[in-house]
Amino acid sequence: MSTSSDQLSTLTGPTAAELPAAADLATRFPLTANAAPAGEDAYSAVMDNLSFGVSFTDHMARATWTPREGWHGHRVEAFGPLTLSPAAAVLHYGQEIFEGLKAYRHADGSVWTFRPGFNAARFNASARRLAMPELPEEDFVASLAALVAADARWVPSVPGSSLYLRPFAIATEPFLGVRSAHQVEYLLIASPVGPYFAHGFEPVAIWVAEDYHRVGPGGMGAAKTGGNYAASLLPQQEAYEKGFEQVCFLDAATGTHLEELGGMNVFAVGADGTVRTPSLTGTILEGGTRGSILQLLRESGRKVSEETINLAELLEQIRSGEVSEMFACGTAAVITPIGRLAGSGFDVTVADGRPGAVTSGLYAELTDIQYGVRPDTHDWMYRLA
Ligand SMILES: *Cc1c(COP(=O)(O)O)cnc(C)c1O
Repeated sequence: MSTSSDQLSTLTGPTAAELPAAADLATRFPLTANAAPAGEDAYSAVMDNLSFGVSFTDHMARATWTPREGWHGHRVEAFGPLTLSPAAAVLHYGQEIFEGLKAYRHADGSVWTFRPGFNAARFNASARRLAMPELPEEDFVASLAALVAADARWVPSVPGSSLYLRPFAIATEPFLGVRSAHQVEYLLIASPVGPYFAHGFEPVAIWVAEDYHRVGPGGMGAAKTGGNYAASLLPQQEAYEKGFEQVCFLDAATGTHLEELGGMNVFAVGADGTVRTPSLTGTILEGGTRGSILQLLRESGRKVSEETINLAELLEQIRSGEVSEMFACGTAAVITPIGRLAGSGFDVTVADGRPGAVTSGLYAELTDIQYGVRPDTHDWMYRLA
């Protein structure tokens, strides 16, 4: 049984045109240049061997918050270890939020990012859930502009590569009492990354977790916070040991319907062309990739719905061929085709286990917009440098 959509999206945030120019915003985070930036050899070693999240640029952006001063000390400085009291609240109670977006180099050398206003709005929605201070949306984007200006040489240009941007905030107050911290640090680090699909656009096998849940009703599922990832690591590890690349979680309340993967939203495509994704019930993280895909599909005239996706029904529909494609989506991989779905007592191959036309088409459309190959008719792309 499918219920119709719960539209819980509250993440608007400024569009690219509503934001000031990057060069103007960047001045909000003054630069103290790294006195010992990576030399030619170290730089080439990273840029000639791009992987995901292992190497970082010369700088980081940061700002500090206290109740008395608000946000202050905005700056870009050398990337390096933090000085943190061992009593810092984040180390004990996990008061942390993060974001993930990418800077893409276009053919003319310019550098752009995708819907930064959305990520800024989501960062603040996460902040509210974790009782942390919100960062003005323009300051969030300003930190991206300032860091990319300082580290422009780290934005790779080989096809499919990008500079992954990781904004986050942590509770730094040294205090073991349990309440929201009175000192918070905002940080932005960046990592040059290669194409996610090193071996081509290959479908993954998904294990559906029945013994573990990522989040529960009233929990932090709609917030992008490290704690949700911590909850997913053991199920992820067990699935990996069984030969599966990723885990799909079911709702904790009934254990009957699909929610999402540990860090990606999930879609099912019908043989009749309709596309479904779980609705935003409060226990699902609202992906920017998810929302963009929904918008592109709706505009193309396709029938799209955000609804409850019952696992037992879905398995039947996959077996009968009624569901012909499945994919997961998120900033890191953009779109990951799902070729197999298994759990205790079932193991089904989606279509023939190869990426379908809707999945491949969306991947091409989104990445073409991000890399400036297709026109950006939605005002999604914001020029950073
Ligand atoms: C970040 C994230 C996603 C994907 O969000 P995007 O904005 O598309 O990158 C999906 N699910 C979870 C749990 C996430 O943390």
